[in-house]
Amino acid sequence: MDTQASLPFVIAGGGIGGLCAALALTRKGFTVKVLERAPEVGEIGYGIQIAPNGHAILDRLGVMERMEPQVFYPDALVLVDAVDTNEIARIDLGASFQERYKYRYFVVHRRDLHAALIEACREQSGFSFEEGEVDSYQNHPDGVTVTCTNGKTVEGRGMIGVEGLRSKTRARIVQDGGPRNTGHVVYRGLVPIEDIVNQRYVNSMVMYAGPGCHLVQYRLRGGTVMNNVATFESPAFKQWKHDYGGVDELKNAYAECAAEVQDLLKYFSLDKNWLLHDLLPASNWTDGNVTLLGDAAHATLQYLAQGAIMAMEDAVVLADALERQPRNVNAAFLDYQSRRLNRTARVVTTARLFGAIMHARSGERLLRNELAQRRNPNVPWELDWLYRGLEVEEKVF
Ligand SMILES: Cc1cc2nc3c(=O)[nH]c(=O)nc-3n(C[C@H](O)[C@H](O)[C@H](O)COP(=O)(O)OP(=O)(O)OC[C@H]3O[C@@H](n4cnc5c(N)ncnc54)[C@H](O)[C@@H]3O)c2cc1C
Repeated sequence: MDTQASLPFVIAGGGIGGLCAALALTRKGFTVKVLERAPEVGEIGYGIQIAPNGHAILDRLGVMERMEPQVFYPDALVLVDAVDTNEIARIDLGASFQERYKYRYFVVHRRDLHAALIEACREQSGFSFEEGEVDSYQNHPDGVTVTCTNGKTVEGRGMIGVEGLRSKTRARIVQDGGPRNTGHVVYRGLVPIEDIVNQRYVNSMVMYAGPGCHLVQYRLRGGTVMNNVATFESPAFKQWKHDYGGVDELKNAYAECAAEVQDLLKYFSLDKNWLLHDLLPASNWTDGNVTLLGDAAHATLQYLAQGAIMAMEDAVVLADALERQPRNVNAAFLDYQSRRLNRTARVVTTARLFGAIMHARSGERLLRNELAQRRNPNVPWELDWLYRGLEVEEKVF
């Protein structure tokens, strides 16, 4: 008997990335064991926007049908100047968008996506899930021994570190100083759709771009609730003060915005906020029979709304690479990373740039607005390479 082939791939982390990897691998006949440290899925950001490149993967993984009742399809992506409330750009998500990308743009609650993924995983015979916090690993020529913080060990054919931004596995493989703290703070709020007073953009994904801040709204749970996300650059953080990101800062951050935009802050929960980080794009994320996936490999700022989608793309590229070379895990992992390094680095880098464009001030704001208005409305920004998905990836890089 081939002992190596009988061992599972150990997946450290059962978030969206870990479950997509588990599903992609088990659908190809591999066995996996997911080790997840938390009894409950993490909560940051209620909503997830899924652009056509993500929709394509979820369709390929067979999860769309079970998620469909919870999904909301916005009619457009709209960029509004938060100071004068003029609409500065609009991408219509109707027929011509769908024709161009073959798949649609939708939004979904993180919990609904996670639930659909875990249900789909549980239908696969090669899938198993256990609570456990991965601490370290030891490579062998034929596999890997994974050790949890409670001392338990698991033998694997390979290990995939999908533990998110603060992955211990990444810290061992990539010595680049770890997460980059941006000083950007996020508040969020979820309210019933009936509570939304200004219904102008209620069917769209709207982004109000202000000086050093922005605010996003879109509907979730089949359209029954409105998701509100406010992001701002914390002045106290820039001055190295410890008490940054508080409610006073939130309100001050939107002070230059129109009253109509400031009024939206009433939809936010003020008891909790998050500080945003990303990771410097790496040139390698594989060590022997261990590799990284999702945020652990390439956490990005949310300004392109592509972090989870990159994890989905990783998952299918990884499964394809293992299918091509099932007996040489290290070679398959290196093949996978070589197909993913540049695309994900481009997302991380472009997301930072988009953040700066959205937060433009003074004369930069005027320039942004003029350039945005001059753009060709038939080409969705410079994101064609992204939305076309894996089909185009190999031609681009
Ligand atoms: C405000 C905000 C909005 C966003 N919006 C979007 C969007 O619209 N579209 C989009 O595509 N992306 C979006 N993202 C990005 C997206 O949330 C992430 O890219 C995605 O969640 C990454 O998934 P992951 O599984 O790699 O990591 P995570 O979601 O961080 O999951 C990691 C999992 O590993 C577990 N874990 C951690 N350590 C261990 C350990 N040692 N052992 C075992 N388990 C462990 C954790 O408990 C967790 O369940 C957004 C992010 C933010 C912050």
